[in-house]
Amino acid sequence: MKNILTVDVEEWFQVYNLREAIPRVNWDMLPSRLDVGVYKLLDMLDRYSCRATFFVLGWVAERKPGTIREIARRGHEIACHGWDHKPVTGMSPDEFHAETSDSLKVLSDITGTDITGYRASNFSIDTSRPHALETLADLGFQYDSSIFPFRRGRYGTAGFPRGPVRLVLPGGVSLVEFPLPTVRLPGGTLPVAGGGYLRLFPYRFTRLGIHRMNSEGIPAVVYLHPWELDPDQPRLSGGSRLKKWMHYQNLKGTEGILERLLGEFRCYSMSEAYDTVKGGLSEYRI
Ligand SMILES: [Zn+2]
Repeated sequence: MKNILTVDVEEWFQVYNLREAIPRVNWDMLPSRLDVGVYKLLDMLDRYSCRATFFVLGWVAERKPGTIREIARRGHEIACHGWDHKPVTGMSPDEFHAETSDSLKVLSDITGTDITGYRASNFSIDTSRPHALETLADLGFQYDSSIFPFRRGRYGTAGFPRGPVRLVLPGGVSLVEFPLPTVRLPGGTLPVAGGGYLRLFPYRFTRLGIHRMNSEGIPAVVYLHPWELDPDQPRLSGGSRLKKWMHYQNLKGTEGILERLLGEFRCYSMSEAYDTVKGGLSEYRI
């Protein structure tokens, strides 16, 4: 079966783990490194004839429209990652509606297409916040990919289905959810195949996880970030040592891991996956 390849398009200085070291007001003074990772990815995806979904921040799209157009020109899907990486949990319903609409408008103006997919920053949508999912459905999104079906500190919904489902929301509207990838092991449910879990765990664990998910009929939603393919990004001096370790560790290895994954597993974009699965999904009521 095919798996789904997704990229969260944000700058190296917009990452949750570094937010204490880089105040938001400094963003416009920092050098953009976006193209380093994006073009490496685009060239690799061309070599494997793989289409991916790129969830883009409105803040980034406004400053790098040429890069976003090039991603779309090479055949990939552009989807929405909110405006400036603020967690949905920190926004009022009105704020969430406004910043999502702004991002949607910038992305559809740049690409000239409808934007149908959404991913929240830091997986900050869970089932206790149905208003956010209802807002997405009201704004015309067809699918969301923000829910992590295991609980870890600040994010996740333990017990949520591990494969795609059609969410039926309190207002009667519905939205397809592609949950982030997890593997069931004797010790419990663990995250696999995305971000730090993809970069820091040995590749053999990722391979095992994807094979196990596929044997259950679940496509793995693989995800990564352009900055994870940029080992030469600036190093920061302040902030938590553990968070910096999680950010900088094995940046040199990401490219090789992704090469192996693309060589071994067939992947496609989330809109292609949506078209494939939308007719046969079970419903999940919130
Ligand atoms: Zn992000």
